[in-house]
Formats: sequence, C-alpha cells, structure tokens
Amino acid sequence: MSDVPTFTRLDPRNYRDHLTSDRTRAALIVQQHVLASVRVTLAGRGFVELPAPLVGPVTDPGVRGAKQADVDYYGATYKIMTSAILYKQAALLAFDKIFCIAPNLRLEPPETAATGRHLVEFHQIDVEIADATREEAMELAQALVTGAVAAVVRDAPAELERLGRDPGAFTELLAQPFGRMTHAAAVAELTGLGVAQSATAEITWEGERVLSGKAGRPFFVTDYPKGSRGFYDREDPRTPGMLRNFDLIAPDGFGELASGAEREHEPARIVARMRETGENPAKYGWYLDLIREGIRPSAGFGIGLERLVRYITGADEVWQVCAFPKLPGEVER
Ligand code: AMP
Ligand code: MG
Repeated sequence: MSDVPTFTRLDPRNYRDHLTSDRTRAALIVQQHVLASVRVTLAGRGFVELPAPLVGPVTDPGVRGAKQADVDYYGATYKIMTSAILYKQAALLAFDKIFCIAPNLRLEPPETAATGRHLVEFHQIDVEIADATREEAMELAQALVTGAVAAVVRDAPAELERLGRDPGAFTELLAQPFGRMTHAAAVAELTGLGVAQSATAEITWEGERVLSGKAGRPFFVTDYPKGSRGFYDREDPRTPGMLRNFDLIAPDGFGELASGAEREHEPARIVARMRETGENPAKYGWYLDLIREGIRPSAGFGIGLERLVRYITGADEVWQVCAFPKLPGEVER
C-alpha cells in the first residue's frame, strides 16, 4: 500500500496528500454509499432523522478511559458530546423511532492511536426505538450493516477494487445471520487462549482484536457485567449485575462496530446506577427532570460510521477513511 501517505503530523501538507489520494477518495465514496443506505433503510422503517447536539451541560460518561472536552459556555462549563445517548432518550418524546448521524469527540488515551480503531473525532449512526427490546435493536443493527455492505458491493465495485478489497470478504456476512456469544463465553474463550480478561470488565482492546481476528463473520457479544458500562444500559431484572446490552464485532480483526442496549428509564434506578458508576446525579439537571416526569422505555445502539467504513474498505487503520482525521494524542502546535 505504497500510495497511502504516512500521517504522523497534522499539517496542511498532510491534508493535501491525504485528500488527493485515490484511496481516500474511494473510501469517502464508500462512506457516502453507507450513509445513503442507512438513511434509506431507516426511513423505510419509519425512523425520523434528527440533527444531534454538539454541546451540553453533561454528556455520556460511559466511554472507557476517554476524557470529555470542556467548552466555556457563557461562563458555565459545558461538554462536547461524547455520544448522543441522553438526547436520544429525550427525542423519543417527539417520535417513536429516531436516529442521528452524530459527531462525537472523545479525548482517547494516546496509546489508542496504535489500535487502528480510534479517532478523537468520529461519528455514530445513533438509533433509538421506543418500547423496543434488545433483540429488536440487534436485528436492526444487523439489517443496517448488511444493507450498507450490500449497497457498497452493488453500487461501488470500482471503489472496492481501487482499495484492493475483495467483495468475496462479505460472502458469509451477506449469506447468514450474525453470530452471537455472551460476555461470559467471550471471557472463557480469551482465558483459554491465554489472553488476560476480567469477568467483570469490558473486553480489553487486545481481547477485542483477538476475538475479532478469529471470526469469519460479524458477531454480537451480549450480557456485559454492570461495572463495564454507563448507567443507561438496563440491568437485567432477572439476572442482577448483568446488562441487557450488546456489542457488534466485525470479523478479520476490524473490531467493534457498534454498542447497544435496552435503557434504564425509571428515575430511582437511573439515580442508583449513576451513584454506582461514580456519577453525581446533581450534574444531570435537565436529564433527571425529564426522567422524573417520565420518558419512554427504549432500546438503541450506535454504529461507528468510520469503523464501519474501515471494515467495508479493508483499510489498515480507521484514520485512512476519515476526511479530516484526528488521532489520539496528536496535537498540532
Ligand atoms: P461506544 O459508545 O463507546 O460503544 O461507541 C459506539 C461506537 O462508536 C463504537 O462501537 C465504535 O464503533 C465507535 N467508536 C467509539 N469510540 C471510537 C473512537 N475513538 N474512534 C472511532 N470510533 C469509535
Ligand atoms: Mg462500545
């Protein structure tokens, strides 16, 4: 892949090399097909697209190791959105089914620059459905990914060829439903392979890479332990300590594509979960006011747009499919 420019510093020259590369252009055209496909699928199922907010007094705290960025907002400290989760739940007051193509900013730890999966700025295809179950959310996530892959294979074969991506890589994905395993099974598999993995925590970056590398088609990991996620993933009433959530993992080492869950929606449970996860409920004024007056039970998920495009294009690293990439720890001075 000699025509991929190295991208060690952000400066205008690098943007020129990056934006005029045939590979970047091909990846951005693939992204356009992905976005078009997602919008057609969701509109066909009655979803309303909403623009996502950029800043607010609070944002998603459940972002494993990433820091939030502050904005001086008329003398108050606001946060740049790490995800749209709080606003997605609120949006179900207006419509039963909503989605956003939401920009996120997460100050990821500098060491994640080497995973090939992490950007500081990225987008989520962020979906929320009133009164839905986790299984319904998983079915939709699968339909969106399968639909996007099928659309690119059908409508952008020249771009895939320019990227050296064999459409045959998607045969299994398009032919059968995605796989499924529990977090407990993932822990057992990793432990059996000699990869250290706690039963009560998120799958590590290395564990994610190993599980993804062994798979030949996308698969879901379900039932994460409570300590591993934000307060909004619903605890299973039948299995306390276990969450009604899921991740979607791409095959061939591309790693996590999406995370989703049924949501907590009862005020007392949300406040208790905030306290358990070390969040101060007093910070969540508008959100808790809304919850106390009642919100819809729901389920939803966020698919990382650049992660999905990286998987479809087969790019070595996620920044290669992003028009204006920002890598963790890299600062232009
Ligand atoms: P999360 O809420 O952390 O599960 O994020 C939702 C989805 O966004 C993930 O499944 C990824 O596809 C994507 N994502 C999360 N963090 C990043 C990042 N730093 N860079 C690129 N994509 C990300
Ligand atoms: Mg996740």
